[in-house]
Amino acid sequence: MSTMSTASRRSQTDPLDLLAIDDLLTSDEKAVRASVRQVCDASIEPYIADWFERGELPVVRELAKELGGVGLLGMHLEGYGCAGMSAVDYGLACLELEATDSGIRSLVSVQGSLAMYAIWRHGSEEQKQEWLPRMAAGEAIGCFGLTEPDHGSDPAGMRTRARRDGDDWILDGRKMWITNGSVADVAVVWAQTDEGIRGFVVPAGTPGFSAPLIKHKLSLRASLTSELVLDSVRLPASAAFPEVRGLRGPLSCLNEARYGIVWGAMGAARSALRAALEYAGQRVQFGKPIAAYQLTQQKLAHMGVELANGTLLALHLGRRKDGPGLRPEQISTGKLNNVTKALEICRTARTILGANGISLEYPVIRHMNNLESVLTYEGTAEMHTLVIGQAMTGHAAFR
Ligand SMILES: Cc1cc2nc3c(=O)[nH]c(=O)nc-3n(C[C@H](O)[C@H](O)[C@H](O)COP(=O)(O)OP(=O)(O)OC[C@H]3O[C@@H](n4cnc5c(N)ncnc54)[C@H](O)[C@@H]3O)c2cc1C
Repeated sequence: MSTMSTASRRSQTDPLDLLAIDDLLTSDEKAVRASVRQVCDASIEPYIADWFERGELPVVRELAKELGGVGLLGMHLEGYGCAGMSAVDYGLACLELEATDSGIRSLVSVQGSLAMYAIWRHGSEEQKQEWLPRMAAGEAIGCFGLTEPDHGSDPAGMRTRARRDGDDWILDGRKMWITNGSVADVAVVWAQTDEGIRGFVVPAGTPGFSAPLIKHKLSLRASLTSELVLDSVRLPASAAFPEVRGLRGPLSCLNEARYGIVWGAMGAARSALRAALEYAGQRVQFGKPIAAYQLTQQKLAHMGVELANGTLLALHLGRRKDGPGLRPEQISTGKLNNVTKALEICRTARTILGANGISLEYPVIRHMNNLESVLTYEGTAEMHTLVIGQAMTGHAAFR
């Protein structure tokens, strides 16, 4: 490469991509990313701060159809109307969605990686035919009920129970903190049975099923989070996933969603860093833009380095997922690192914006508050630390 072109490339350093990770993407991957960004810019960005402030997602059905229309729902699944894209494509989509808002990425993750993936991987042919094409199109919304009021990190002790009654199943119990619950047309519910934990496909209109909205959240406000109440819900034998038994059923789905979070968290971080950079360049104190002070530059440099590291880590995991495959502890490494670092980046960005950092006029505190949920759901930071610890030492330290 000539000195000239090296110099011109250097002069174009993208502060949001210090390591030029873009050069590692194919043109098809960049096209996928651009089309997701287009949807976000047109249909979500202008409204998201207002939805967050109101604690609502008023157009969730329209949004689901729009996201389904561009192939974003279950996009990494094959068949049944799904787009069959690569893990890297899916990751790039998650990054752009979460650069808009973690709540929107959650809508897509829960639909595609939890509810649809559960049916796609563990469902009967009949269940797949019935639900997947409509879910891929965004005409039906799904949720995934694993967590309970008394069983979060340790779902093995769940109390929701399914018992047989002739050929039917009767489900009783309660699920908590369920994303998309109150708008879902279908819930994938995990319950104890005499044969161990099993998954059930529960249409929302089934008598005894209700999904009251959880209010007073200060995080993921542009996402609907609900309880699921199962009060003698009678289901036909065909509602159960035929084969899978035990926690490996739900855990297989969580691994899919966690992978998307590895990428998504870097989207929230990128948005916060962009806001901090713009603000620091314009805000003048003591006669100079605050970007010109070493202390601000130290913050920005640290944020840029962590964003680059996390994005590279996400891409590495994506390439492995598309190639030799991922081990759970590798996903834990990505989720633990990227969510923790994204939260750090947002908190630092918040300080650069001073008082404006606490205003919804800027995206920073919205992302920061959202990431508090992302740190907890899909396995808390502590659980992922223990997964990594077990993989490194051979000792399980969960109990
Ligand atoms: C906005 C939002 C959306 C969600 N969406 C869904 C959904 O769609 N479906 C679903 O099923 N769930 C969902 N969840 C639930 C989420 O997965 C749980 O909150 C999470 O698994 C943690 O469970 P918990 O809140 O009961 O915390 P707990 O498990 O009670 O943990 C509390 C604290 O104790 C720590 N802890 C627990 N055990 C140990 C241990 N052995 N060693 C050290 N520390 C430990 C935890 O790390 C944590 O810091 C959602 C949560 C939120 C906030």
